[in-house]
Amino acid sequence: MKIILDRETNKPLYFQIFEQIRRQILSGELLPGYLLPPERKLAESLDVNRTTVLNAYRELKAEGLVGSQVGKGTIVLSYPDQEIKPDYILMQEPTWNQLFSQYSNKFDSYLVKDLLTLANRKDVISFATGIASPETGPIQVLRGIEQELVEKKNYRALLHTPTEGFTSLREAICNVMHKRGVYCDFEEVMLLSGSQQGIDLAARVILDPGDIVVVEDPSFFPAIQAFKTIGARVMGVPVDDQGMRIDLLEQLLQRYRPKLIYTVPTYQNPTGTEMALERRKKLIELAYRYKVLILEDDAYGDLCYDGYPLPLLKSMDNEGYVIYLSTFSKSVYPGLRLGWMTAHKKVVKRCSAVKQINDLHSNSLSQWIIERFIVSGEYEAHISKVIDEYRLRRNAMYDALMQFAPAGMSWNSPRGGYYIWCKLPEHVHASRLMVKAAEYKIVFVPGMPFFTSDQGENYIRLNFTYAPLQDIREGVKRLCQAVNDLVKGSGREERDKELEIIPIV
Ligand code: PMP
Repeated sequence: MKIILDRETNKPLYFQIFEQIRRQILSGELLPGYLLPPERKLAESLDVNRTTVLNAYRELKAEGLVGSQVGKGTIVLSYPDQEIKPDYILMQEPTWNQLFSQYSNKFDSYLVKDLLTLANRKDVISFATGIASPETGPIQVLRGIEQELVEKKNYRALLHTPTEGFTSLREAICNVMHKRGVYCDFEEVMLLSGSQQGIDLAARVILDPGDIVVVEDPSFFPAIQAFKTIGARVMGVPVDDQGMRIDLLEQLLQRYRPKLIYTVPTYQNPTGTEMALERRKKLIELAYRYKVLILEDDAYGDLCYDGYPLPLLKSMDNEGYVIYLSTFSKSVYPGLRLGWMTAHKKVVKRCSAVKQINDLHSNSLSQWIIERFIVSGEYEAHISKVIDEYRLRRNAMYDALMQFAPAGMSWNSPRGGYYIWCKLPEHVHASRLMVKAAEYKIVFVPGMPFFTSDQGENYIRLNFTYAPLQDIREGVKRLCQAVNDLVKGSGREERDKELEIIPIV
């Protein structure tokens, strides 16, 4: 509610207040049920006498526009019919604050949006977003598409598919899963519009408001958001260099009886860590003992740069407790928006019922492209190529950090995936570093959004797959210069700017 008083006119102040509130009620800006501010509060904020507001409210009551409710205060009533003036109402922009749902009020994706804008600038070296390298993308997947679609009239690729996806693609994905040690049937596989959709679907079909979800702390923050917006309570279990601390998890399971454990056990986002084999086994055992489902998010599992990948949680589960997600975003193209779920048939059925009201089915053309890619054998060959390229980039980033990082900064060497997780020197805060690094035209993601509580100021996540190999050393050098500036105290003036850049997620 906005009121501006004109103290120069002869119009009494109470009448100005009355008139302005009246106009806002009749225009629909203040909806029925809207609680007017208490008289004293409004009087204080407008710097008028309390009786001035009292008189204004009295006039509004006399017109039947507001009423008093014991214990509540003064609320806007439904409009008297004769007062509604449609032309006037149409001229107003919708009152978004009152129209947006409680559910959508819980979303805050500014951080990602701002980073994407900055990262897309040509003069900036981006270690921020977790995007596949555009140059290593398998552009050949698009070969022959026009010919097949137009000349051979392949309408199938442009019509509807079942909600779960083309059966032939689900079968092809079963073969991919076999190679990952999971023996599933096509009915246990469904296509998703990105694996992020799978997180949302799983959350919707499993969780009710108030249910508890356990996540790694830190974890992939859009997942934390997805759980929170459903009204679930999110509890974090710390991650060390062996992945989720399963010893601490057990205490939590005993005490709180959560319904779901969300984990990225392989080359985790953001820390790049890998859950040790013993912990994987123990996690499955605990899931069975406490009857809690596991959502295994395997966005990066394909991308192992040293030795052999560890077995998937899904491959260790014979009972259907693991809901497995994977994606083509990290190894093929994120814009195809294609991922998949492998889970118990009952989970797939439920998720597809929810997906149907969301987007009907995932993009048919993308499904068709990916199916050709897998069936031709090119997908597997492509993964080996990407692994070779990303290994070089990971090494380049690691070596540059060894060369340029100031004392007090530490980082890990992930065996796969997309990210190096860095701890900053003691008094260097990620939010201040973001501002300083932007001056050097470097972007990264600060640690804070990934944590379930107020932590992470000392950490940053560096993506090594997106920036071209030749830029990585220069980018790390500049980042370390920015860290050095802050270590030396020359970045003190950045403190005031930090809040503008980092919204709380
Ligand atoms: N899970 C994790 C752990 C991720 O890092 C990402 C992408 N950053 C996703 C899921 C979502 O990927 P997609 O593009 O398949 O929705």
